[in-house]
Amino acid sequence: MSVESHTSPDQPQSAATLDTAWTLRWIRQGAEVLAANRPALNTLDRDIGDGDHGENMDRGFQAVLPKLDALADETLPGAVLKLVATTLISTVGGAAGPLYGTAFLKAAGAVAAADGIDAAALVAVLTAARDGIVLRGKAESGDKTMIDSWTPAVDAAAAAHAAGSGVGDILLAAADAAAQGAVDTEPLVARKGRASYLGERAIGHRDPGAQSTALLLRAAADVATVTE
Ligand code: ADP
Ligand code: MG
Repeated sequence: MSVESHTSPDQPQSAATLDTAWTLRWIRQGAEVLAANRPALNTLDRDIGDGDHGENMDRGFQAVLPKLDALADETLPGAVLKLVATTLISTVGGAAGPLYGTAFLKAAGAVAAADGIDAAALVAVLTAARDGIVLRGKAESGDKTMIDSWTPAVDAAAAAHAAGSGVGDILLAAADAAAQGAVDTEPLVARKGRASYLGERAIGHRDPGAQSTALLLRAAADVATVTE
């Protein structure tokens, strides 16, 4: 029995699987959004860190762009994610480089050699990325780090998948949860990273890494819905 959907061809729709084209759109859109938010992320990091998070993220993603342009047409999604990982690790200083680098490396590992990421694989990819950050940085929920954006995103993605959502709606759920997770870091005292030196003075400030995670996951969702 066929399980193909019969939506109108001119309606915006989300593909059943995320392919290499989506992966490239995501990283390019992520680079654009991070560039636009560079001052805002620096400001968040100036409040509770050393003021360079926007600069770090922008530098890393700008370094990825020319490498994406040079990729062969048949490059698989996992290979794109791995290229992002190695570029971030080699170009982004500070805490965020190795943490995001590990996230993309583990995401690439979860995709492996598949040519598309379906709903179940998407949840596995997001989970692997989050688990990689935890493995590397040892942060727990509530420590006021990017994990406070990632974990609600992973949980929301898993719940959306369990409810039968496709990849586009799973990414929307993840992006919404990450955005809320970033806001929810504001009242927290930091227990990891530079902000942990501030004690209660970190209260009232949003964690910059949680905010950049929310921006990246929003970009992922934004480029998943395309008019075909
Ligand atoms: P640095 O702190 O070295 O200047 P960035 O400013 O680029 O690096 O990144 C800071 C962000 O890194 C924080 O906002 C936080 O989200 C994240 N971070 C720091 N330490 C950890 C950790 N151990 N686990 C997870 N995230 C962390
Ligand atoms: Mg910093």
